[in-house]
Amino acid sequence: MDNTTDIHCITLPTPFTVGDVNVYLINDEKLTLVDTGPKTKEAWEAFLTQINKLGFNVTDIDQVILTHHHPDHVGLADYLKGNGTRFIGLAYNQPWLQKDPAFLEHHDAFYLRVYREMGIEKFHEKAMQRIRGYLDYSCSINIHTIVKEGDRIDGLPGWIVIETPGHAQGHLSLFKEEDGFMIGGDHLIQHISSNALIEPPPIGVQERPKTLLQYRDSLRKLLDLNVNMVYAGHGKPVANPKDLIRKRLVKQEERAGDIRDMIIDQPKTGFEICQNLFPTIFLKELGLTMSETLGHLDLLSRNDQIRVTEQDGVLYFQAKEVM
Ligand SMILES: [Zn+2]
Repeated sequence: MDNTTDIHCITLPTPFTVGDVNVYLINDEKLTLVDTGPKTKEAWEAFLTQINKLGFNVTDIDQVILTHHHPDHVGLADYLKGNGTRFIGLAYNQPWLQKDPAFLEHHDAFYLRVYREMGIEKFHEKAMQRIRGYLDYSCSINIHTIVKEGDRIDGLPGWIVIETPGHAQGHLSLFKEEDGFMIGGDHLIQHISSNALIEPPPIGVQERPKTLLQYRDSLRKLLDLNVNMVYAGHGKPVANPKDLIRKRLVKQEERAGDIRDMIIDQPKTGFEICQNLFPTIFLKELGLTMSETLGHLDLLSRNDQIRVTEQDGVLYFQAKEVM
């Protein structure tokens, strides 16, 4: 029996600030693609060239596993769906990828509430337009096989699904225990710290997901597994994932400490804290910077280090005195 895993990395251009995205072709009982790249002509051409160079045609792909719903990872699925290719992913991603109008309405209402609480309601409409712009690079597909934690994938012996929410609400990583390999999507990236983006919960759930707390739990989850190589969605493979995870966890605690220092003397809104933290890019990268701010406030709140009060729908955050 051949137990060497045949994984090929295909790197594709994206129109986003993150730069190139990596998708992975696993040649096993079924030819499986993990993620697809964004829906652009450039990405499609680069994909065709590279898959042909590996000795395959697009029509050879049996199945596509999607790590999460972000456009740079799923868009080209639109170009693959005509070939009878089956799509596999977590349930949360389905309404995103179907561009379900009811979900998009729920999405906008969710952000309106968050933006109001952060004191940035005036930016809501613009932010929603921006997200709609991103969706042009996404796809409209149906996920045929919904998977969950611990599931095995048909035609991909030895690999299991590990749910790693945080960067995205429906984020999975694929783990092959016997080799210590993980295909990690955007869960762990060597050259940049992955952002725990604030995203809406599924329809019907009211509570805002505490994405940084989820993300930290998902990072710690890897510490308990035999993972020694993470093939990332961006950049080089992570060869010492556990060291990097410990570094990331500490960095987050340090940033939370910095935020706490900003709100010792007087309470501040989320927006004020965000401006202090990111004086030059807070508006240009509102989604990222607000997620970063709110995530670390959640961390302080969970550690009982801050007090949160509300006035006219806006939240004010202040450090608690240290005894
Ligand atoms: Zn992503």
